[in-house]
Amino acid sequence: EAGREALLTVAGLKKNFGGVKALEKLDLTIASGELVGLIGPNGSGKTTAFNLLTGVFKPSGGRIVFRGQEVAGNRPEQNARLGMARTFQNIRLFRDLPVIDNVAVGLHMRHGAGFWPTVLRFPTAARSESKIRERALEVLEILDLRDRAGDLVANLPYGDQRKVEFARALATEPVLLLLDEPSAGMNPHETAELGATISRLHRELGLTIILVEHDMKMIMTHCQRIHVMHQGRILAEGSPMEIQRDPRVIEAYLGR
Ligand code: ADP
Repeated sequence: EAGREALLTVAGLKKNFGGVKALEKLDLTIASGELVGLIGPNGSGKTTAFNLLTGVFKPSGGRIVFRGQEVAGNRPEQNARLGMARTFQNIRLFRDLPVIDNVAVGLHMRHGAGFWPTVLRFPTAARSESKIRERALEVLEILDLRDRAGDLVANLPYGDQRKVEFARALATEPVLLLLDEPSAGMNPHETAELGATISRLHRELGLTIILVEHDMKMIMTHCQRIHVMHQGRILAEGSPMEIQRDPRVIEAYLGR
């Protein structure tokens, strides 16, 4: 892993909300192709970190370097164009529209370059509506949802709605996918299946993934490396085995 290039480097990142220091000082390096977990007790700053990385909030200080560029202070669309995509804790889909239309939204937002292999790409010049639908179907196929393309999102089981959200994010052809508590609202069976899906997307598409998740089983099973946050900082970093044995981590979770 040592030789791998850093895709994302965060240094001394800070965010204050009035008097509240949501992020005290975040330092983080993510290598290209990693599947990393970002965990920590409630209020430790995980969501704030995602909102700063994606450009939803402006940092109060510090640096975010993504693909060699300083992106701190960028707007969300700028970061999306550079290849960042995210999902939200609460699914944000157009429930009364068909699945395929929801994925097409991701395609309309798509940046010009295209990071994925040519098989999964269509020429920018040919970005007609029919091409977009064709492409949306391809992305749905990756998530085994092609058969549900015409169904209204509201009529899908919760686990499948989550997959539609993934499909919409994937349609932008991201290099970095940020997943904010994807198992929220899911039963153990759906959660296990989702973990396997995330792992497969990581493997097959070569995506770099940052996973914020409360489900420890999912984190420990699928992540290669885990960063633990506590009070707006990184408390520990390591393999699942190292993290589970770290007394500081145990203290942070149990000492609340
Ligand atoms: P986590 O996602 O790890 O639960 P958050 O990033 O949501 O943590 O919150 C970190 C801290 O920042 C908490 O103390 C929270 O109350 C505070 N915070 C988060 N967002 C806001 C906001 N918009 N305004 C004020 N305080 C906030």
